[in-house]
Amino acid sequence: MTDALAGVTREHVDRLRDSFSDEVIIPGDAGYDDARRVWNAIFDRRPAVLVRPTGPEGVATAIRFARERGLEIAIRGGGHSAAGHSTSDGGLVIDLSRLRGVRVDPERRIARANGGALLGELDVAAQAHGLVCPVGVIGHTGVGGLTLGGGMGRLQRHFGLTIDNLRAVELVTADGRLVRASESEEPELFWGIRGAGANFGVVTAFEFDLHPFGPLLHRGVRIFPASQVHAVWSLFRDVAAAAPDELALILSIGRAEPVAEYPPSVAGQPIVVVSYNHSGDAGSVERDVAALSAGPEPVSSSDGSYPYLEVQTANDLAMGWGQRSYIKGGYADDFRPEALDALVEHAADAPAGSSFAMTAQGGAMGRVADDAMAFTGREARFEMSADADWDDPAEDESSTDWVRRAMAIVEPDAVTGCYVNEIAESGPEETLAIYGDAKVARLAALKRLWDPDNVFRLNHNIAP
Ligand SMILES: Cc1cc2nc3c(=O)[nH]c(=O)nc-3n(C[C@H](O)[C@H](O)[C@H](O)COP(=O)(O)OP(=O)(O)OC[C@H]3O[C@@H](n4cnc5c(N)ncnc54)[C@H](O)[C@@H]3O)c2cc1C
Repeated sequence: MTDALAGVTREHVDRLRDSFSDEVIIPGDAGYDDARRVWNAIFDRRPAVLVRPTGPEGVATAIRFARERGLEIAIRGGGHSAAGHSTSDGGLVIDLSRLRGVRVDPERRIARANGGALLGELDVAAQAHGLVCPVGVIGHTGVGGLTLGGGMGRLQRHFGLTIDNLRAVELVTADGRLVRASESEEPELFWGIRGAGANFGVVTAFEFDLHPFGPLLHRGVRIFPASQVHAVWSLFRDVAAAAPDELALILSIGRAEPVAEYPPSVAGQPIVVVSYNHSGDAGSVERDVAALSAGPEPVSSSDGSYPYLEVQTANDLAMGWGQRSYIKGGYADDFRPEALDALVEHAADAPAGSSFAMTAQGGAMGRVADDAMAFTGREARFEMSADADWDDPAEDESSTDWVRRAMAIVEPDAVTGCYVNEIAESGPEETLAIYGDAKVARLAALKRLWDPDNVFRLNHNIAP
C-alpha cells in the first residue's frame, strides 16, 4: 500500500478522510483511473491522492495534508493545461470539479464563478441576461487556468482579455488562509495573479465585470492558396492595424486536410486562411470586413451570423478530452518574407491537426499598459502559436517536432514575452521567456511573501 501511494499510508488517508467531508480518491479505488485523467492524454500520471473539495475549508485541509506529507500539489480546474500541470506522479491533486457554478448579478453586471467552473457555464449564465465576459474558445476549458494565465478569445479586442475584466479573486494560500485580492485588497498579489496566478494559491472564486452583448456573433473565413501568402499577409497586417475593436482577425498557415472539406484546387496542399469574428452590429460587418476583399481572390469564402453560445461550443467535441496535444507560442509585430515562405514550405509536411496561427492583438486589450499586470505581451501586434493535436502515441515525436520547427522559423521575428497558457514545456528558461526579467523579479518578491516554500510549484514556476 505504502509503495502505491508514494509514502502515504492507508492510515494517513483515513485521517484525511476523517478530517475532510469531501471526496478522497486513491489508487485502487473505483473511479481512480477516470479521476486521474486530464484533457491531454500525454500526461498519463498516477497521483497518490486526489481530493475533490466543495469549498475553501476542504482546499485548506488538502494543502495542509500535502505539506505534512511532502506531497507535490497539482491544482485542477478544467484540466486543459498544455504543460500537464494539473496532474502529478505521486502527488496530491486538488480537483476543483465539485466547485463549479457561476452566479450573475445582472443589475451590477458582475459574475461570480467558483474556482472549478468551466467557460461554458460562464458564457451561458452571462448570456441569459444578454451579457458576456470575454473568455476562450472551447466551452470545457477551466475558468481557473484560463483566467490565471490571461484569457484570450474571440472578444479580446472588443472587451479585453479575461483578466482585464477580473474584479477580484478569493484564494486559499500556502498557509491555508482564505484571502481576497482586488485592485484595493492586496493589490500587489492581484497584479501577480493576473498572468502568473497558479503560483500563489488555489482560487476558489473569481468575480468578473460583464458587458452587454449578443446574442449573435458574425464570422467569416477566406481560404487562399499558399502561393498568395505574401499578398494575403500584407493585406491581413494592414486590415488588422486599422480594424475597429469589434473585429477579431486570425491568419493561419496549414495544410488543407481533410481533403474532402476543401476545394479540389487546394485539397491536401498548404493554404493560408483568414478568419474573422465581428462582435458589433450586424449592420457594420459588411463595411468593416470589406477591406479583406482588396487582395487576392480566395478559393473559398463564407460569412454568416450565429448565436454566440453556439459558436463558443462548436468545437467542444472536436477538441474533446483524450487527444494528445503540443503547443508553443510567442508574440511578433511583423514577419519577414522569408519566414512566411519557410512556414508555407513547413506546412507541406504538417501532420493532420497541426497549424501555425497569428492572431491580431490591439483594441481593448492593447490599451492596458503592459506593466499593469503580470501578463506579458499585450503590446505586440500579433500573438503567434504553432500547435498539433493527434491520437496515436507513435506520432508524439513527429508532431511535437513539427511544432518546434515551426516556432524556430519565426524565432527571429519574436518580441518579448510568451502567453503562459500556450507553453507546453516548463522550467526557469520558459518562465523567463514568458514574463521577462523585470516581471520575474517582481513576481519572485511576491512569491517570497505568499509562498516562500514554493508549495505551489507545479506551474510555470516563479522561484521564491
Ligand atoms: C482545447 C483547448 C482550447 C483552449 N483555448 C484557449 C483559448 O481560447 N484562450 C486561451 O486563453 N487559452 C486557451 N487554452 C489554454 C488554456 O487557457 C490553458 O490550458 C489553461 O491553463 C486551462 O485551464 P484549466 O483550468 O482548464 O486547466 P488546468 O489544467 O486545470 O489548470 C491549468 C493551470 O492553472 C492552474 N489552476 C487551474 N485552476 C486553478 C485555480 N482555481 N486556482 C489556482 N490554480 C488553478 C493549475 O494548477 C495549472 O497550473 C486552450 C486549451 C485547450 C486544451
